Amino acid sequence: MTSEVRIPISPGLFKFNGGIHIPTNKDMSVQVPLSVASLPKELVLPLAQHIGQVAEPVVKVGERVLKGQQIAKAPSYVSAPIHAPTSGIVTHIGDKPVPHSSGLEALCLTIEVDGKDEWCELQPIEDYTQLDAITLRNKVREAGIVGLGGAAFPSSVKLNPSPNSEVELLVINGAECEPYITCDQTLMSERAEQVVGGIQIILHTLGVEQCWIGIEDTMPTALKGLNEAIREACEESRIQVKVVPTIYPTGGEKQLIKVLTGKEVPSNGLPAEIGIVCHNPGTAAAMYRAIVKGEPLVTRILTVTGNGVQQPRNLEVLFGTPMSHLIAEAGGYTDNVERLVMGGPMMGFSMHTDELPIVKATNCILVGEAGEIADPEPAAPCIRCGDCANACPANLLPQQLYWYSKSRQFEQAQEDYNLFDCIECGCCSFVCPSNIPLVQYYRFAKTEIRGAEADKRKADHAKGRHEFREERMQREQLEKAEKLRKKKEELERKKATSTGSEGAKPGQDAIAAAVARAAARKAKLAEEGKGPKNTEQLSDGQQAQLDATDARQSDAADPKAAAIAKAKAKAAAIAAAKTKAKTDTSEQSKTNAVDAKQAAIAAAKAKALEIAKKKARQKTGNESSAPSPQAELAPKKAAIAAAKAKALAKSKPAASSGNDAAELEPKKAAIAAAKAKALAKAQDNAKPAAEETPKQAVIRAAKERALAKKSEATPTANADEPKPAPTLDPKKSAIKAARERALAKAKEKQD
Ligand code: SF4
Ligand code: SF4
Repeated sequence: MTSEVRIPISPGLFKFNGGIHIPTNKDMSVQVPLSVASLPKELVLPLAQHIGQVAEPVVKVGERVLKGQQIAKAPSYVSAPIHAPTSGIVTHIGDKPVPHSSGLEALCLTIEVDGKDEWCELQPIEDYTQLDAITLRNKVREAGIVGLGGAAFPSSVKLNPSPNSEVELLVINGAECEPYITCDQTLMSERAEQVVGGIQIILHTLGVEQCWIGIEDTMPTALKGLNEAIREACEESRIQVKVVPTIYPTGGEKQLIKVLTGKEVPSNGLPAEIGIVCHNPGTAAAMYRAIVKGEPLVTRILTVTGNGVQQPRNLEVLFGTPMSHLIAEAGGYTDNVERLVMGGPMMGFSMHTDELPIVKATNCILVGEAGEIADPEPAAPCIRCGDCANACPANLLPQQLYWYSKSRQFEQAQEDYNLFDCIECGCCSFVCPSNIPLVQYYRFAKTEIRGAEADKRKADHAKGRHEFREERMQREQLEKAEKLRKKKEELERKKATSTGSEGAKPGQDAIAAAVARAAARKAKLAEEGKGPKNTEQLSDGQQAQLDATDARQSDAADPKAAAIAKAKAKAAAIAAAKTKAKTDTSEQSKTNAVDAKQAAIAAAKAKALEIAKKKARQKTGNESSAPSPQAELAPKKAAIAAAKAKALAKSKPAASSGNDAAELEPKKAAIAAAKAKALAKAQDNAKPAAEETPKQAVIRAAKERALAKKSEATPTANADEPKPAPTLDPKKSAIKAARERALAKAKEKQD
């Protein structure tokens, strides 16, 4: 261990109460320059790496992510998103062990590193001074930046102080008071330009002109680096480095503000209430990289130190890197390792394994060998010596807090003894002669109180929802009752104004009156013998008249009843019209059928007579046989009558459709006409031989000769036997007989 080099303390500083002088043990980790840790095989990223609501995953298992890509979003204002520290594949989302004093597991997102370290598309800003405060705050928020001093409070919230606060001074807390830890010192020594660049962004965002950087008098390299960066960046008066004495816990926010300004931050208050905003140098550098280079927060500088590692050093590491990987980067364990602590020996907590990931709040991995970090001695009863109160930098009464915390009287500890002003620095425990783990009691009490408050918030929320629901249901019931009341009043008002009668609706009254009038009228008709005795016996026309009368009478009394009566009258009128049409159609069909039949018979007779006379005139050429004028007109009349009957049958298909007789008459007429025609033809054929024309006589003689020849040519058994008369065809015989009968009839008619 090298001896520490002290630099002069800045003038005009103040002192805070209490504090202790303890060995710093910082030299061992600053012997080698800052280096970047190699890529591990796997990164495990807890989703609760900050104060506030847990981040929510926005990627799925199996998805490839790029370096800087957001993998979990901030669900509320006090929260922070998480980004992929390198490129790879998401292999798991679920509970895994996380670095916490409880040793419990928490939701983590695991990335299998592909070794390419491929960045996503970045959006650097050349001149941030052109952006307003809101835009810069949002970019800081989107970059997932939280306080890197150990609290991990979302930085964008601290960049947005209350409007009632008039911030005048920015304080950069470079007083890294915890023993062994040198990450901030290394950053300010080797990357001071990023710190100063971040300070300028914060000043621009807050609209503040003055910044003081507090460092301890054991940080000469940091002082040198910062001054050079300030000279290159801006006027030295705007950003000043203040060297403060190394007293634990000067690095406490309230304690450093007290030392630099002499102002006390109010109990349970914030520095902004006294016009001061405080940030860590690592946070300022992260803002610089986020705004100027567009890089979200995926790495940090941490110290791997202690006598338990071969090469203590500072490393820039990816979040999610296993501690075992970083210990290997520091040369691995020595042979006499006893304890593994995350943080420093005063405010850190022990870990049971090195297979835990680095988170945003991890500033140191302390590997102690035997005897280096004293194991707590068995606790003894409090002797009320008061040493704890003298050492407390927060001006508290640690022994009182101890009693109330131990007896679970949390309200007294919180309300009467300002439990939450305790910064858990451990000074009281360090000086307690009874070796009482006082800070453990305070942490326990704070956890219990926070849990109770969370339960109370949930209960209040549930109670509020229940009360709101009850109120809504009551309101709905009242509205429903009011609607029913108004409706009832409206109905009663209408009833009173329509008929004046009680117990029946106006429309029903009018209908009943119309029905009664119709019944009385029908009864009167029945008594007088002028009409049917009941409703069923009324014809459709009578019913239509009655309904029309009802409609007229009801029209004045009630519109609804009038409309119903009108509809009934219309329906009855339609029924009456249909009945009349049906009756007329039936009678007309009968008449048409008789006319058609008579016309057909007359036409057939006339046509037969005309044909017979015409034939006779052709054969005899006798003028005396010429038909009389009446005989000549008869066929024409018959034809006209037949045509009329046929046209009538065609023009009234609907009427004849329901009457078989009417349908058959035209056919019968046609058949009769055909018969008459056939009769006339037969009569013509049956004329006597004397009336034969010479040509017909020649033809008949030829036929007879041919028949005689045919009879002679037929062989016979006995030539002596008389030859049988030639056998005639039965069909021809029938025709011949019919001709003879028709001829006889025609002669009779002529006679
Ligand atoms: S230092 Fe220890 S013993 Fe002394 S009063 Fe405080 S708690 Fe009690
Ligand atoms: S741990 Fe709390 S009570 Fe103890 S000295 Fe520090 S601030 Fe005071």
